[in-house]
Amino acid sequence: MIAYIEHSFVHDEGAGETRQNDAVESADQNDAVLCQEALEREGIQGTVDYTSTSTGSVAKDFGGMNRVRPLGVVRPANSSDVAAAVRAAADTRDMTVAARGNGHSINGQAMARRGLVLDMRAMGDHPFNVVVSEGDNDGHYYADVSGGALWEDVLKRCVLGHGLAPRSWTDYLALTVGGTLSNAGVSGQAFRYGPQTSNVTELEVVTGRGKTVICSPSLNSDLFFAVLGGLGQFGVITRARIPLRKAPDMVRWIRLVYAEFDEFTRDAEFLVRQPEGESFDYVEGFVFVNRDDPVNGWPSVTLDPNQCFDPDLLPRSSGEVLYCLEVALHFNHYDHPSTVDSEEQRLVGRLRFVEGLRFSVDVGYMEFLLRVKKAEQHAKANGIWEAPHPWLNLFVSKRNIADFDRTVFKKILKDGIGGPMLVYPLLRSRWDSRTSVVIPDEEIFYLIALLRFTPAYPKGPPVGELVAQNREIIRHCTRKGYDFKLYLPHYQTQEEWKQHFGNQWSRFVERKAMFDPMAILAPGQKIFPRRS
Ligand code: FAD
Repeated sequence: MIAYIEHSFVHDEGAGETRQNDAVESADQNDAVLCQEALEREGIQGTVDYTSTSTGSVAKDFGGMNRVRPLGVVRPANSSDVAAAVRAAADTRDMTVAARGNGHSINGQAMARRGLVLDMRAMGDHPFNVVVSEGDNDGHYYADVSGGALWEDVLKRCVLGHGLAPRSWTDYLALTVGGTLSNAGVSGQAFRYGPQTSNVTELEVVTGRGKTVICSPSLNSDLFFAVLGGLGQFGVITRARIPLRKAPDMVRWIRLVYAEFDEFTRDAEFLVRQPEGESFDYVEGFVFVNRDDPVNGWPSVTLDPNQCFDPDLLPRSSGEVLYCLEVALHFNHYDHPSTVDSEEQRLVGRLRFVEGLRFSVDVGYMEFLLRVKKAEQHAKANGIWEAPHPWLNLFVSKRNIADFDRTVFKKILKDGIGGPMLVYPLLRSRWDSRTSVVIPDEEIFYLIALLRFTPAYPKGPPVGELVAQNREIIRHCTRKGYDFKLYLPHYQTQEEWKQHFGNQWSRFVERKAMFDPMAILAPGQKIFPRRS
């Protein structure tokens, strides 16, 4: 029985639909024929694939909890192909189009039931997917990158080819430019530069009307800001212009352990408020379990196999969970080691972590930014990468974070989640309020990321149990009246979306009417039903 419940948790929108759906099926068939004919008429340069192998490969995502098969997979060669696909869907009664970046969504956001999935990676593989140029007269550089390019390729092209790099990243880089810009794109640089949505100066977008438009803060700015954090609702990002700056050679990567949450947050907030030059170049943090658990506990903190976590150094008052501030300092080969040491000492000297529980290692800049790759390889080797990932990401206001710690970290999650539990502060003023992203009202708010990595059931816990735990956490936040938002949000009803957007809902609806009036795009978000 348990095995049955577990199996059925995977939400398969194609399964179990029998006779009562025959009428729908035949309407779908009509749509499919119309769409295929329209695509043929358009004569796209890329490919369209209706085989079950292809449609099956995009019917799942990293979350592993949904299975939604499209009619076909379009591999666009350029933005004209993207526009052709959108126009072809518009010719039908209810077909939709989902851009799929690298399919790293958790809840089927890049899926389109019997619609078209645009495999944006096909454009990302284009030989000119990253073009670095110098801005007019101002000595600033930027990269024009395909919406389907992976950030790890952007990194390699910019650093190895030009010694330059974007300023704002995600922790993990096998994500596409269009995928993260449709959400926000957050990592330890965001406290200073804002999310990736604050670090883009121009976009090429194919709207839900099938039009290709160049936009920026000064040109078609309505579309520009709508698309950033727009959950794919207003257009498909086919190109983005990302400002670059000189890449450092090296990074000193440091972890500092705290027994008390209020000391951890005081130091983290102090660091993110400091001006450049007075703080680290990267600030994050995580919660871990106060025991010798190889995945959730002390060993997860050290940065080098030669380092050892000595629990005897912890104060007696330490509780069941501990906190780690993760910071990094950039430097160059020409910097004298003593200069780097004294800069580290100057910044670390102001912090109140547990004495002796400080770990550091020097790594190359690219190695630092690609640090999660190792975790991916490890998870792939032991099968956990392919297991379901019921992740939960939240933004929680500073005023609610201590209560969140007391209830969620210290009680609900006190045994860990089999993966990182990130918690670090961000500054609202670094987020552009003209974009479609919604965040808490307070200037300081925390990113919470519960990145669950457990083996598939029955080796690991039933995924339904983990989803229920996520719901319990959200319920707690709601019941206590927290100022919070889901990051990478996922809801089933428009009423819930309305609540999510709050006073930004009417702007979101207006943007939809302007740029995708038939609600063709990104149906997997379940915000707007398709209009005929
Ligand atoms: P997909 O999942 O394929 O698509 C996401 C949504 O964007 C869909 O609605 C899709 O239709 C739409 N979309 C995709 N491409 C385009 C486009 N070109 N134009 C318009 N809409 C588009 N996020 C962070 O902020 N910081 C992190 O550190 C971070 N780390 C992560 C680590 C892992 C291992 C995973 C799995 C996710 C992580 N994420 C992180 C979340 C990530 O930002 C989202 O999953 C995001 O959706 C990018 O993934 P993707 O490129 O695979 O997009």
